[in-house]
Amino acid sequence: MCADPIRRFLAEQDPPTPFLVVDTDVVAARAREVRAAFPGALIRYAVKANPAPPVLDALVAAGIGFDVAGPVELALCLERGAAPADLAYGNPIKKPRDIAFAFERGVREFTSDAAGDVDHLGRHAPGSAVSIRVVLDGPDSATPFGRKFGCEPAEALDLVLRAAARGLRPGIAFHVGSQQPDVAAWEIGIATAAKLFAEAAAQGVALTRLNLGGGFATAHRARVPSLDAYAATIASALETHFPGQRPELLLEPGRVLVADAGLLRTEVVLVAHRGERRWVYLDIGRYNGLAEAENEAIAYRFEPVDPRGGPSGPVVLAGPTCDGDDVLYQRTPYDLPLDLRTGDRLELPGTGAYTASYASVGFNGIEPLRTYCVGRWGDA
Ligand SMILES: *Cc1c(COP(=O)(O)O)cnc(C)c1O
Repeated sequence: MCADPIRRFLAEQDPPTPFLVVDTDVVAARAREVRAAFPGALIRYAVKANPAPPVLDALVAAGIGFDVAGPVELALCLERGAAPADLAYGNPIKKPRDIAFAFERGVREFTSDAAGDVDHLGRHAPGSAVSIRVVLDGPDSATPFGRKFGCEPAEALDLVLRAAARGLRPGIAFHVGSQQPDVAAWEIGIATAAKLFAEAAAQGVALTRLNLGGGFATAHRARVPSLDAYAATIASALETHFPGQRPELLLEPGRVLVADAGLLRTEVVLVAHRGERRWVYLDIGRYNGLAEAENEAIAYRFEPVDPRGGPSGPVVLAGPTCDGDDVLYQRTPYDLPLDLRTGDRLELPGTGAYTASYASVGFNGIEPLRTYCVGRWGDA
């Protein structure tokens, strides 16, 4: 009998590929690590990273709250036993009726970055805490948000005052971009927030809450900072920029709580030689789980399941659909065994985040990526 629940599942069930298997014990362990690294901070898991009910169950049991993007994620978290007070509606883009739905269900924590949305919150979520999200001039992450979210710091003060005038309880939020390997990004965010806290105080509005977002990176082929390294930089930036009066902290990690808990298995559909290059077509691609391979942003590890021990050589990796964009890696160098052939299986470790949740519902008749959850909260 094998102790690792993922290995045991694979040995006993071996379902058809492609699929994702998630160890909920690892999710619970990560939750404990995040709580220990950021003592006193409110942790709100970004549900979009992996909304599988057993994952949510493990996090509820670990005392983690949830960052929801809309009514469906919100209802799911409540159904899994989360308390409304532990939910934050962190999506700045929301319909007034969805704000009203959240408020009616007991949610009192929101994020906003535009005057129109602040007004909707004042009307449909009276008295709630609203963090104003600022855009930062910081280092790009692997999957940056661009200019879609966040107001300029100069506009943030206006939104803070606007929120206060509408009876809301304003705070400041930022998000450094997902898979952010540069710890200095948080330092920039905290410095920006501190300036806004001071400016708001000068206008008679006391800000108390700072939302540091998510963005903590997880390892694939490249090394990333440890959770402790992120925490140390954040703690020292808080000491520098908020001497004496540390704000109440909120964190919205997604990836770091679930990525390492997941393992994806795929199968080689076809190997073809085109010009100088060897193309390997897999039964997983951009549309059924590897959306984050877009622009080759995240370079997953691909490990043969039963290697025959021969030499390896370069490959282009592509997905199974009839879409020209369904190519995974043609610039990022990958080596796989030269004798790789149809039916061989590969494993992608560290794929518990942003894989199944990004899969399309049936492009080319391919079903969304199946998730099997194992471990204490598992259902497989
Ligand atoms: C996606 C998202 C997160 C989670 O980001 P990670 O990089 O997965 O930690 C947190 N907050 C908001 C508002 C998000 O949109």
